[in-house]
Amino acid sequence: MSETVERHEFGAEVGRLLDLVVHALYSDREIFLRELVANAADAMDRRRFEALTSAASALPADAKVRITPDKAARTLTVSDAGIGMSKDDLASNLGTIARSGTRAFSQTLADAKPQDGKEDEKPSLIGQFGVGFYSAFMVADRVTVTSRRAGTDEAWTWASEGQGSYTLEPATREEPGTTIVMHLKEDADEYLESYRLDHLVRKWADFITVPIAIVEDGK
Ligand code: ADP
Ligand code: MG
Repeated sequence: MSETVERHEFGAEVGRLLDLVVHALYSDREIFLRELVANAADAMDRRRFEALTSAASALPADAKVRITPDKAARTLTVSDAGIGMSKDDLASNLGTIARSGTRAFSQTLADAKPQDGKEDEKPSLIGQFGVGFYSAFMVADRVTVTSRRAGTDEAWTWASEGQGSYTLEPATREEPGTTIVMHLKEDADEYLESYRLDHLVRKWADFITVPIAIVEDGK
């Protein structure tokens, strides 16, 4: 590991939530894409708003959420031109659970054990709380997040295998925004297929108000 790479432990609750999300929600794992696209859309809305009042530069008029499957690399990338995250944002937003909603979700899910006959409630729990960023680990065994906060010229890469720790290291990114690369698990090949991704995106099109493009790598 190079000298510029810092390793950090996840907050205790992150480990618990990751475990729940990855194991308990397996049959609903396609929701990871909706969660990442929703985050990208939120980030683009925030940039549009902050550009009115602060140093954040305006959201480009043609800004889109880009979803890029790469079969050779076995990666799926979701990138946006949103507000981005600083190094501190990456550590606090992706390394700890600060949100009461997620804590409540993790508790409710833990309570909904199969022997209680509540198994069927899981899909509605997902809808109620949103699972968030960590759902990427349902389909990926390694996730990297490279981000540049709008209004700054520094970029950082957060990386994790979802196993107790993450790393942070300096990176480069031409424009503000966030790029999330999922190194797909052996059994998640379906998310390398454009038609499958397209089908998923159409499913939630009514909820997502930003343009989404599925772009095969190299095109
Ligand atoms: P939620 O969206 O409910 O806050 P998530 O787990 O989905 O929870 O995301 C956690 C936080 O990480 C977000 O609140 C946001 O601050 C940050 N984040 C996630 N994805 C992005 C992104 N693409 N751009 C900027 N910030 C992001
Ligand atoms: Mg979210």
